[in-house]
Amino acid sequence: MTTVNGGISFWYAQTGVPTPREPLPGDTTADVCIVGGGYTGLWTAYYLKKAVPFLRITVLEQKFCGYGASGRNGGWLYNGIAGRDRYAKLHGPDAALALQRAMNETVDEVVRVAAEERIEADIHMGGVLEVAHSPAQLSRLKAFHAAEAAFGEKDRLLLSAAESAARIRVAGTAGGTWTPHGARVQPVKLLQGLAGAVEALGVVIHESTPVTEIRPKHAVTPYGSVRAPYVLRCTEGFTASIKGQRRAWLPMNSSMIVTEPLPQHVWDTIGWEGRETLGDMAHAYMYAQRTADDRIALGGRGVPYRFGSRTDNNGRTQAATIDALREILVRFFPAAAGVAVEQAWSGVLGVPRDWCASVELDRSTGLGWAGGYVGSGVATSNLAARTLRDLVQLDSGQGGQTELTGLPWVGHRVRRWEPEPLRWLGVHGMYAAYRSADRREQAGRSGETDRVAKFADRVTGRH
Ligand SMILES: Cc1cc2nc3c(=O)[nH]c(=O)nc-3n(C[C@H](O)[C@H](O)[C@H](O)COP(=O)(O)OP(=O)(O)OC[C@H]3O[C@@H](n4cnc5c(N)ncnc54)[C@H](O)[C@@H]3O)c2cc1C
Repeated sequence: MTTVNGGISFWYAQTGVPTPREPLPGDTTADVCIVGGGYTGLWTAYYLKKAVPFLRITVLEQKFCGYGASGRNGGWLYNGIAGRDRYAKLHGPDAALALQRAMNETVDEVVRVAAEERIEADIHMGGVLEVAHSPAQLSRLKAFHAAEAAFGEKDRLLLSAAESAARIRVAGTAGGTWTPHGARVQPVKLLQGLAGAVEALGVVIHESTPVTEIRPKHAVTPYGSVRAPYVLRCTEGFTASIKGQRRAWLPMNSSMIVTEPLPQHVWDTIGWEGRETLGDMAHAYMYAQRTADDRIALGGRGVPYRFGSRTDNNGRTQAATIDALREILVRFFPAAAGVAVEQAWSGVLGVPRDWCASVELDRSTGLGWAGGYVGSGVATSNLAARTLRDLVQLDSGQGGQTELTGLPWVGHRVRRWEPEPLRWLGVHGMYAAYRSADRREQAGRSGETDRVAKFADRVTGRH
């Protein structure tokens, strides 16, 4: 079997690639214009319209809803949020605790709305299992477990090697940590169900409509402009392609492979009955899910970043990345060695210079944005959307301050990335350092994190 390369993502092989909705027909007006039809844009439209049914909301999407990371991700709906620990340093532990609590609730909120809107997205609430492979990874795993417990996750479990393997038999597991605050989803089914729900509420969605410029009260496209008091930029990993935003969030690549459905005798060896989402503690970490039709979908970092903040071509992925992901698959699950890889794809996620997700509405211009989720956006986008709703209501006098508008990621700003070639050199240097650190940790017996990885973390602002 030959591996399909690209095709946006495997998730579309299950649903079909949609025919885009009609583009913007010409100049128009709205109360709120949302740029980008991924989870952030659509959840924002959903909650705003639910809160204020008479609002005229227009979503502009360059290709079709779900073309970006929301249609390509690993389907981990979980409670991680990029930047929490930095927010704890900047605003104190209570503020970060509130952010974490809001994220825990967000996982349940997405599951709740999916049920209410009858969105069938293969959701399975199996929690998240993260495993360690080496003494250094095990030390990090224990420290991570302790930090999460300190942030209120009393229901998180620290697992011995045997307990971890009883859930998922990953070869060479040294231990694991499991949290119930996570679910597996089929990303495109969630996205398309959400787009349908938004449209049913009366939100107007125009696809095949690239926004070339965003300025106060205007979203400009080749077909005309939408004039609106609020223009919300929900373009995440694509943000650098918008005029004036080149050095904002860096478009980081993440790549995935999916196997053919595994035969029962292979599942008998692997286990994975609980359908937990699975990750590890490597610096260049992996993530995986067992799909509803019994495949393994597994992702990780391939070529981390393209020069000049370019994005990929419909998910096409380098052969070396596909080989590297396959190597992880077989290293984790030797019983899957003979299994075919059906499809491989990539996508981009947005990475701010300080690796902190943020959400903002600039009250002087009416321009808002949310993103910088650094690979943890499936749930975070929902919290961001409810926060944008509250910020718009606050600004328009329809609501006051809420718990969400007071969270520490609201209004957070960060400096821009360095110009090229420094940006490219920095990110590639960082991942070269991580890979060599992972190799040394794997081969060694020390429980200490490799010094090169620590150095790379500091230089790149990741920790
Ligand atoms: C391979 C991969 C795996 C991932 N796995 C996970 C995971 O398992 N769990 C998790 O929590 N997160 C994961 N993420 C991250 C997560 O998918 C994203 O954080 C999330 O989907 C971001 O949603 P968004 O709506 O902000 O951005 P996107 O989904 O990228 O949506 C942005 C939209 O804006 C559109 N757009 C861009 N520019 C313009 C323009 N100029 N005009 C009009 N429209 C425009 C794009 O076409 C796109 O549809 C993963 C990401 C990738 C790439």
